[in-house]
Amino acid sequence: MKLVLAVATALLLSSGVVHAQTPDRVKAMCGNQAVAWESLCNVDAGLREPFALIERIGGEPDFLIRDRLSAMIRDRHAAIDWHPNGTLTSTHPRLLGLYDESTRRGYVPQALGNEPLRVKTAVLAHELTHAIWNVDDMGAGLEAPIACLANEDLAYKIGLAIYARVYFLSGEGDRPRSAIDQSLLLQSLEWLQISGGQQFTPEGLEQMGRRHLLGAGYLERCFQPG
Ligand SMILES: [Zn+2]
Repeated sequence: MKLVLAVATALLLSSGVVHAQTPDRVKAMCGNQAVAWESLCNVDAGLREPFALIERIGGEPDFLIRDRLSAMIRDRHAAIDWHPNGTLTSTHPRLLGLYDESTRRGYVPQALGNEPLRVKTAVLAHELTHAIWNVDDMGAGLEAPIACLANEDLAYKIGLAIYARVYFLSGEGDRPRSAIDQSLLLQSLEWLQISGGQQFTPEGLEQMGRRHLLGAGYLERCFQPG
């Protein structure tokens, strides 16, 4: 089976603005001084393993987005943290996390700590894609509701694509280990099926993105006034 991410990659290569200022949350986690490239100070310690896995997936020619996901952390554009509300569940059937543009802080629920590595990795990739959207100003020139839809569409597609790759790499076996793991596996299989069953295609991923926007209520969310 082959994964193709050309569509997402093309979108990300057209990125524009890069903000020079270090975000507040990154300063709080890493200090005011410049830190070495190797440091993962802006990733909570419990989330460094999934982040490293996102970086490890690189090296395949069709997976250029890996570099941009990596840069969000290595170039200190954003921070990834646990959500302060410890009761927030991660039992949402779709990827669950938050990205706060004002502080460039991506949050994931603390309950995600109990999920398999491949789920953590997919959620992290999803939130880091929101960071890319924000930092690279990918919504420039779009009407707000359209930008909102396109932002979520891209984050969902990257999250699912990462999951489908990590599924075989994480060493966690074929059987789903949680409800979210099962849901992501089913979404991956659905993607394979609408791709024709032999390989994962970009067209199939586009369809999965549209289904996500509809199924997870993003039409209502993004078009809500205010
Ligand atoms: Zn999202």
